[in-house]
Amino acid sequence: MTCIFCKIIAGDVPSFTIYEDEYVKAFLDISQTTKGHTLIIPKTHSENLLDVSNDEIAGALLKAVQIVSDKIQRTLQCEGFNIVSNIREVAGQTVFHTHIHVIPRYGISDGFQQMYSQNDPDFGKLEILQRQITEVL
Ligand code: 5GP
Ligand code: ZN
Repeated sequence: MTCIFCKIIAGDVPSFTIYEDEYVKAFLDISQTTKGHTLIIPKTHSENLLDVSNDEIAGALLKAVQIVSDKIQRTLQCEGFNIVSNIREVAGQTVFHTHIHVIPRYGISDGFQQMYSQNDPDFGKLEILQRQITEVL
């Protein structure tokens, strides 16, 4: 069964396109977390951002994030953005075709919920983590 975003790329499911090029397409997210909430997706199917192995596609995704954010900034006058890509179900991924959310921000009560908490720094733990992560080949 073809995934919903592949159907959008094929034109079998309608979408409101903001930008597209050879490699990527950007269209308005159906849920509009904030005004202008846009999804950037590669035209070639992959499950999530970490599975994009083609460097040209990876580069095109980031370039599209910049182009789309600039267009939104200039038209909707947002104050900032959250650029998010949920990887796998545990992180909230619900559509398993790579996508990057561009979520314009208009203030702290604009409908976007903060994603992570800030904890007091523990330098001992940071040192252990650094060793663990850098030791892997
Ligand atoms: P995820 O939760 O996987 O990070 O994000 C999936 C996003 O896709 C959600 O924000 C959801 O609103 C959006 N979405 C799901 N189905 C459709 C669709 O058919 N059209 C559009 N434009 N957005 C969709
Ligand atoms: Zn797909």
